[in-house]
Amino acid sequence: MTDSYDDLLKKAYSHISEKSISSERFVVPEAKAYIEGKTTILENFAEIADKVRRDKDHLMKYILGELGTSGKIDGTRAIFNGKFEISLFRMIIKSYVDDYVICSECGKPDTRLVKDDRVLLLRCDACGGHRPVRKRKVRTEPVSENLEEGQVLDVEIQSLSKRGDGVVKMGRYIMYVANAKPGQSVKIKISRISGSIVFTERAE
Ligand SMILES: [Zn+2]
Repeated sequence: MTDSYDDLLKKAYSHISEKSISSERFVVPEAKAYIEGKTTILENFAEIADKVRRDKDHLMKYILGELGTSGKIDGTRAIFNGKFEISLFRMIIKSYVDDYVICSECGKPDTRLVKDDRVLLLRCDACGGHRPVRKRKVRTEPVSENLEEGQVLDVEIQSLSKRGDGVVKMGRYIMYVANAKPGQSVKIKISRISGSIVFTERAE
């Protein structure tokens, strides 16, 4: 994706529907996702973006940022590199809706994103209220259960650290794997956990 964040915001502002949806029941479709090879497919991505009336690129950028991965929109689906649990998508989409869609004054979804100076505001067409969009990270729970020292896991390397170690982000954890390249699947044993930093050794 080559669009800058500002471009995406511009697109998001221009993506304004005249139609009010407060008369309809506002139910965001539950995320439908499945793992395919080394990727996770969010099957109903476009349906979700349409329902919340936000630009697809804007929503995509948000999900990618929360997952800490790369990916692309593919027609009505979205493809994310890495294996993610469906509960994580549901949490992220809920958080997106809370931050970028629902009016905190009246709780209605008849809102639009507008930029005032450099501040992004959520304006409500239902009650006239507006508030700055909160820029916060979702406090996601670990993808699986809590990790423990001595645990053996199969992981896929997502990126490289500055020191050249393989990096795997898993929920709130960041795992470092020596001598591993992005895309590589390795079996590792957790040697030490320090806060969210996980040190590993290879387990074969
Ligand atoms: Zn409102």
